[in-house]
Amino acid sequence: MTDSFSNLSLAPTLARAVAEMGYESMTPIQAQAIPVVLTGQDVMGAAQTGTGKTAAFSLPLLQRLLKHENPSTSPARHPVRALVLLPTRELADQVAQQIKLYAKYTQLRSAVVFGGMDMKPQTLELKKGVEVLVATPGRLLDHIEAKNAVLNQVEYVVLDEADRMLDIGFLPDLQRILSFLPKQRTTLLFSATFSPEIKRLAGSYLQNPVTIEVARPNETASTVEQRFYAAQDDDKRRVIRKVLTDRGIKQAFIFVNSKLGCGRLARSLEREGLKTAALHGDKSQDERLKALEAFKQGEVDLLVCTDVAARGLDIKDVPAVFNFDVPFNAEDYVHRIGRTGRAGASGLAVTLVSPSDTRLVGDIEKLIKKKLEVESLQLDDHPRPGVERSERERSDERPRGRVYEGRRREDFDPRDASELRERRGGFRPAPVNRDPFFAKPYEAPSSDAAPSWESAAPKTPRSSISANIKPKRKVAALFKTAE
Ligand code: AMP
Repeated sequence: MTDSFSNLSLAPTLARAVAEMGYESMTPIQAQAIPVVLTGQDVMGAAQTGTGKTAAFSLPLLQRLLKHENPSTSPARHPVRALVLLPTRELADQVAQQIKLYAKYTQLRSAVVFGGMDMKPQTLELKKGVEVLVATPGRLLDHIEAKNAVLNQVEYVVLDEADRMLDIGFLPDLQRILSFLPKQRTTLLFSATFSPEIKRLAGSYLQNPVTIEVARPNETASTVEQRFYAAQDDDKRRVIRKVLTDRGIKQAFIFVNSKLGCGRLARSLEREGLKTAALHGDKSQDERLKALEAFKQGEVDLLVCTDVAARGLDIKDVPAVFNFDVPFNAEDYVHRIGRTGRAGASGLAVTLVSPSDTRLVGDIEKLIKKKLEVESLQLDDHPRPGVERSERERSDERPRGRVYEGRRREDFDPRDASELRERRGGFRPAPVNRDPFFAKPYEAPSSDAAPSWESAAPKTPRSSISANIKPKRKVAALFKTAE
C-alpha cells in the first residue's frame, strides 16, 4: 500500500488543497500521525522540521474542525478551536502560511500572532474570530491579557518544537497558556528530541499519548555528510573558504553561538569580499526578512546565524551548513545540520573544532550515538592577500568577556530575548511584511555568477560593508547582561 493522501478520506476541500501543493505521497510522519490525530488521541511526536510535520498535524486538525465550518460573519461563530504554539516568529509565520494553504477551500479561518509586530492588526483579526490560532507564547499571553483572545473553546493544542520552547525559557508562559484551556482537549506535542524535560512536559499535559517517531530521537538525517575539522579560531574562515571552493558549494549557513560573534564574523567575511548577511535575535523582523530574501535571491552567499534566529528557516536542502562554533547545547547540533540534507536531498555539515571544544564534541557524540572523527584539513601555507587581517581586525575577534568552557560567553544569550524583552519593555513595532519566502523550499539562485569566494577577494574598504550588516556595537554593549 502506498502512503497516498487518497487513503485518508480527507474532505474534498482539504484533498484539493493538498493536490494543489503537489504532494505525491505522505511523508513518514504524515503516514503515522495523520490517522492517529484523526481519531482525536494525544500524540507525542519526534520529528524534525523539514519532515512534513506541519501537514501531519494541521490536515487532520482541519478535518476534525470542519464540523464547525460556517459562513457566518459573527465573531461568536468563529471561536478559537485549535491553538498551535511555536517558539519563534519565523516558525509561527511559516506554519500559519501552510495552514492557510491547506484550509484555503474551507470556511475555517486562521491567524498568526507573534512578537515584533504591531499588536493592532493582530487584534483586529482575532476580534473577527478565527478557528485556528498560531502563536508564539509571549505574544499570545499579551493578547490573552488584553482580552483579544479567548481560549475557552479550544479543542486542540499543538506544542510544536517543544524542546526549543523550553530552551528559550517559555515553560512558565506555556503553563499559563495551558491553564486557560479546557481540560477536555486533544494535545499534540512535537519535538526534535525527547529530553527528560520534554518527557516531563508530556507527562503533565498529555493523556495516554500515542508516541510517533519517524527517526530515532536525536538521530541526525542520514543524508547529511558530517565532517569535523580541527581549526584554531584564526584559521576557521580559511577552512570555510577552502571547503566551499573544493566542493564547489554555492551557498551556505554558518552557525555561531552568540549574537555579537554573529555580527563580528559576518563583518569579517564581508571585509574579505564574501557576500554575507547576519541573522540574529537583535535584528528586527524586517531586517531578518531582508537578509533571508537576499540569500534566496543570491545577493548573499553566506548567512551567518545564531541558533534561535535560524530556527524558523524552512529552506530545504541548503547545500552546506558550517558550525563556526561548536554549539554549547548538543541538541542544537541536530537542529543546525537539519538545515541541510532535508527531505531526501544530500547535504554537507562541517563543524570547526578548536582545542577547547573537546567536551562539546563529546556531548554531540553522546547525543547522536556516533563516534566522531576530528580531521585536519591542509590549508594553503599563506593566507590569500585579500584575507590577511590587520592587528585591529584580529583584536576585533578576541574574546572579551567571561570565558565559559574556554569559549566566549559574554554575549551568548540562549533565549531569543526579543519576544521576552518586548513583553517587559514594550514592543518595538515593525512594519508588517508578509513573507512569501518561508513558504518556499531553498532554490539555488538563478544567477550564474560565481560565488564571491571564487573571485579574487581584494580587501574591501570599510565603507562598502553591506546594508545587511550593522555597524560595530559600542563597547558598552559588550557588558550588557543577557535578558
Ligand atoms: P515541515 O516539516 O512541515 O516544515 O515541512 C517541510 C516542507 O515539506 C514544507 O515546505 C512542505 O510544504 C513540504 N511537504 C510537506 N508534506 C509534503 C509531502 N507529503 N510531499 C512533499 N512535500 C511536503
